[in-house]
Amino acid sequence: MLPYGRQSIDDSDVEVVARTMRSEWLTTGPEVDRFESAVAQRAGVPHAISVTSGTAALHVAYAAAGISPGDEVVTTPLTFVATAAAAALLGAKIVFADVDPRTGCLDPVAAEAAVTDRTRVVAGVDYAGVPVDSAALRDLATRRELVFLEDAAHSIGSTRNGVPVGSLADLTAYSFFPTKNLTTTEGGAVVTASDELAARARAFKNHGLVRDRAQQRYPDEGPWHQEVHSFGLNYRLPDVLSALGTNQLQRLDAFVARRAEIKRVYDDALVDLDGVDLPVQPEGTAPAWHLYPLRVPAQRRRAIFEALRADGIGVQVNYMPAYWHPVFEDLGYQRGMCPVAEEYYRREISLPMFPGLTDADVERVIAAVRKAVATA
Ligand SMILES: *Cc1c(COP(=O)(O)O)cnc(C)c1O
Repeated sequence: MLPYGRQSIDDSDVEVVARTMRSEWLTTGPEVDRFESAVAQRAGVPHAISVTSGTAALHVAYAAAGISPGDEVVTTPLTFVATAAAAALLGAKIVFADVDPRTGCLDPVAAEAAVTDRTRVVAGVDYAGVPVDSAALRDLATRRELVFLEDAAHSIGSTRNGVPVGSLADLTAYSFFPTKNLTTTEGGAVVTASDELAARARAFKNHGLVRDRAQQRYPDEGPWHQEVHSFGLNYRLPDVLSALGTNQLQRLDAFVARRAEIKRVYDDALVDLDGVDLPVQPEGTAPAWHLYPLRVPAQRRRAIFEALRADGIGVQVNYMPAYWHPVFEDLGYQRGMCPVAEEYYRREISLPMFPGLTDADVERVIAAVRKAVATA
């Protein structure tokens, strides 16, 4: 089965991991600093805080934004559940706003309509790698005094008007899961231009420990002393995995270029199919195509999906609207709330998309899709 996504690991990746395994440090050491500097530079901001997953990155970002019980977070339903779950675990009420039917990204007008006096964060997702409408969300966040968070699990390497994802929002969360645009096995990072948000993020990922004597309540306790002012967790990314990340980051441009090439070949080969919509690239954006989300007629989506799987094409569906999960249903969320996202979901099939696909693999996918759409 050809998977829908897959890591690209080469000998140089294996070598840096093996070298770090033999070094003095397995976890927090020089490779963490090196990786964080490289991620910050790529994002175009001063601060990167590495963590153990994209989910951890979201949890850290919401904590840094000060989310506490009673606050509201406005976000998209067309995402992996973690975008909402990480805020819900901090006590937030999740308010879902509908998406743009062209891109599947949060619609800024719908987001604005969902904002109340209790809203603290507006969180967009760069669906499939396409950066959210950051100018509109930035404007909304400024006018309503919100924190603008970008879930960029799909989009490290994407740009909008030449500006890298990482520089568009107040806080940006990356995932380095194997299917994403680069990998540290499990891993993620939060990036920000704000010193204050960075300090809070850094504290939360390491138990809330305060080591700076100038900040301590009891600085004279002794040279061993460290103290906790607010609760945190351990989300520290190990040195071994950070070394892998730094090496992968050097190949990100090549990964992004190959993804764009595959996108063009799919587009050219599938554009004539009746009732099928191809992913849209908005003006000014250069997406790192994490997914290739095809839309087929809703009544035949399941049959086409099953025909492709039967043909050895490991397609996926991204995503069931987050509030369809029973955990939200049990809280009273009802289907029909975001009709555009629901229609997007009903039609969506993600085709295989990763840099290691050969030209022959791509042709095989195209032939299978054309056959499935014609006959299933
Ligand atoms: C993958 C993903 C996450 C979670 O990242 P993990 O590294 O798997 O924890 C969050 N949001 C979106 C949109 C994702 O695709």
